[in-house]
Amino acid sequence: MIDQALQHCAVIGAAGKMGRGIAQLILQLMTQEKLRRPGEDFRLDLIDQDIKGLEQTRKYLRAELQRFAEKNINSLRALVKDDPKLISNEEVIQAFINAGMDCLWLSDQLQDASLVFEAIVEDVEAKVELFQQLKTICSEQSLFFSNTSSIPIQYLADKSGLQGRLVGFHFYNPPPLQSLMESVYPSDSKGVVVAKELAERLGKVVVEANDVAGFIGNGFLMREIQFACSLAEEGGHAAIALLDELTRDQLHRPMGIFQLADYVGLDVCVRIARIMTDFLGKSVTAPLVEQMVAQNILGGQNPDGSQKEGFFRYEGRKPVAVYDQKEYRPLPEGKAPPEWKQRFLEQEAVIVQKLVEDGVAKSLEDVKLVLEKGFHH
Ligand code: NAD
Repeated sequence: MIDQALQHCAVIGAAGKMGRGIAQLILQLMTQEKLRRPGEDFRLDLIDQDIKGLEQTRKYLRAELQRFAEKNINSLRALVKDDPKLISNEEVIQAFINAGMDCLWLSDQLQDASLVFEAIVEDVEAKVELFQQLKTICSEQSLFFSNTSSIPIQYLADKSGLQGRLVGFHFYNPPPLQSLMESVYPSDSKGVVVAKELAERLGKVVVEANDVAGFIGNGFLMREIQFACSLAEEGGHAAIALLDELTRDQLHRPMGIFQLADYVGLDVCVRIARIMTDFLGKSVTAPLVEQMVAQNILGGQNPDGSQKEGFFRYEGRKPVAVYDQKEYRPLPEGKAPPEWKQRFLEQEAVIVQKLVEDGVAKSLEDVKLVLEKGFHH
């Protein structure tokens, strides 16, 4: 079904954290198809306002194509077994890299494409305007996949006139490593069949969420960050570090809740929480995160994957100091009060239950799967 559509894709926001990861996944799939179907044309448009950032994405993709080829050499050899010019592993790897790099087109201008993946800034007006432009530029057969974390898909479709051709295709960060995807299918969407096949070909575990702002993942995360911030406000910077340690070590998660907020990007968290608040009519914002962003402390990652400063200062990915009003201070000694663990677990159970009762998730099992696969809970 998707074989033909896969021949021309575009990723918009391809210089960003999510966009480049989505571009990597599509390019890996596309390049394998290109080797399987010699003589056919394949093209992946990388589009972003930030042209310099796109050059970085291009370098990143070359390195990732090489890594992918080395890891999957046996299946790639099977794909090119009829090509007498490709004998050694090195030749097959180089042929894969060349085939992938030849697919790439970089631009700051929108182009027509069969499958368009949107991963621009989380801003309602920016996304509506983008989809309105895409509607005029792309053909009537084009299908659109939004990576929005919070904006209802039907709202975007109605505002842009793309009803029936837009689906929510929400990758987790980083897209190449996270196996989970949340999908959101407005009832009349022609994109559903393609989205399902594509997710399967990308090897993703898909949880289908209802079209409610924030969906399941951010419906959970934003409320948990809000709760953590309300607890932290009782105890200042030491509490931030202690709560982070509690949620990481005592709740057995790969990152504490404040490190996770830094990882997502504090500006991204603020945008998501504000949009959810507007659509839901109930606040999920966290004043502590808002204050950090007002001071231009934004978290997120550098292009090399190292973590930028947020609630914490990092050495590589390890928090080494915690922010306190104006400066970073050494991490405090000691542990969070034991009752905080209980309060956290109780709050988590309340949030999970509400996501089902409010009709955000289709079942309790879906929420559990999102927490397990998306947040390693
Ligand atoms: P980012 O800021 O890293 O990247 C956004 C990119 O979009 C930037 O390169 C920017 O130059 C580009 N851009 C902005 N407006 C544009 C426009 N009109 N046309 C072309 N390019 C434009 O952001 P991100 O964290 O990658 O988030 C992107 C999307 O993915 C958002 O919708 C976000 O909610 C969602 N998301 C983020 C995460 C996360 O952990 N950061 C996880 C899941 C989903």
